[in-house]
Amino acid sequence: MSGFSGHLARIKGQVREVGVDEVRERLKVGGVVLIDVRQRDEIAEGSIEGALAIPRGLLEIELPEAVRDRDQEVILYCAGGTRSALAAEAAQKLGYGKVSSMAGGFARWKQVGAPFHMPTLKALADEPEGAIPAPSAETISPSALKEALSGEAPPVVIDVREDEETARGFIEGSLLSPRGFFEMKVEGLASADKDLVLVSSRGARAAWAAQNLAGMGYGSVKVLEGGVVGWIEAGYKAHVPRRLSASDRLRYSRHLIIPEVGEEGQLKLLTSKVLMMGAGGLGSPAAYYLAAAGIGKIGIIDSDVVDRSNLQRQILHTDDRVGVSKVESARMTLLGLNPDIEVEVYDARLTSENVLEVFKGYDLVVDGGDNFPTRYLVNDACVHLGIPCVHGSVYRFEGQVTVFKPGDGPCYRCLYPEPPPPDMAPSCAEAGVLGVVPGIVGLLQAIEVVKVLLGIGSPLVGRLVHFDGLGTKFRELKLRRDVECPACGDNAEWTGFVDYEQFCGIG
Ligand SMILES: [Zn+2]
Repeated sequence: MSGFSGHLARIKGQVREVGVDEVRERLKVGGVVLIDVRQRDEIAEGSIEGALAIPRGLLEIELPEAVRDRDQEVILYCAGGTRSALAAEAAQKLGYGKVSSMAGGFARWKQVGAPFHMPTLKALADEPEGAIPAPSAETISPSALKEALSGEAPPVVIDVREDEETARGFIEGSLLSPRGFFEMKVEGLASADKDLVLVSSRGARAAWAAQNLAGMGYGSVKVLEGGVVGWIEAGYKAHVPRRLSASDRLRYSRHLIIPEVGEEGQLKLLTSKVLMMGAGGLGSPAAYYLAAAGIGKIGIIDSDVVDRSNLQRQILHTDDRVGVSKVESARMTLLGLNPDIEVEVYDARLTSENVLEVFKGYDLVVDGGDNFPTRYLVNDACVHLGIPCVHGSVYRFEGQVTVFKPGDGPCYRCLYPEPPPPDMAPSCAEAGVLGVVPGIVGLLQAIEVVKVLLGIGSPLVGRLVHFDGLGTKFRELKLRRDVECPACGDNAEWTGFVDYEQFCGIG
């Protein structure tokens, strides 16, 4: 047997296991040290009274401090008996002669109705390693790792520190796998033929973790010299992840329980930047729900002021804000709904002069523009910058939505290479629309935004959904990329923006 199962079988052969009943008897008699080797968040939810809390990842560092006599009888337990077996083997290597692992772990302990309590844990020490000489391991220097990461076959970097430590910063791109579960999870993170670099705060725990990988068939395992501390001292950056606050957890609780979103997805939304083209009929409902969903930064560009005739559909605005700039009004409404997001406003008309400056840095653009010149401007800028654009339009009782994703499907110019003649374009005149229709279309845009940002589902790339409000019918049309497209075609060349300023008298 190879891999983790073989490794565990070998270790179980070397470690003495004791049953829950025997442990209870031994505790009554006294003279035994009981150690809970689970992760701190597991221990906080209940542990055996009198047990020392030493997560398995910190065992080699903390055990010699906590139990100085190597002849002391020690019983280790975890949730089910696997991690404590691994930990017992590690303790044996440190010279502890009377170590055993509790079979069935805390789950079995609770099952038989044995008493437990809710412990108070002391704060995790800042730099808990360095006291015990680590096993020798092949190392890689911070500068060599930096170079390898930008090379053609970058190694898989795995950070084995505890969650509380990686929350303060880790090397960008590394996989986070606390040492407590490391052997159990490593096969899911990287196959045995991959080059691995293990990271801890100064390198000791990574070296302990590396030792077991050889027995699991991993051939190329290195340890980052000096750990994350060494990496930062060498002048390289650590990536500090944003974590959900208690208030985030409450606000987005209905997202967190959906597997496709979850904590990771919500964090992705919270670090996403979406630009709304216009705070009008489509931009209003889309921005409102995107703010509610926790899009971290919403930009809005619009040069209009609120007019009473807007209020039949532009629900971000209110009657008492007639005459106020739309972007200011939008900001008030969005921050009123969700004060934790950032709203950046551009009280300006989108032009060929400002479009690149405005669009740069956004992950996605929501096109809710109501005229052809800006539609082409938005498309050409998105294609040029490689930003996906969620496009929507409405007319009377009808609307349509599609996603233009550069490099994956068509762009707007693939469908309409040039604007129609002005007198043929309905949007130039006062085009009527039933107020509810942009609400529906704007929300279809909003869900496409969330899907594209999270990489879930099937976004409307290469597909256009047409909504008929009178018949209540959705129709889907296939859209194809045009290899001859002047914007995104195979031979398209960037020649700057075409202004359609004269178009229907705008300008
Ligand atoms: Zn195109």
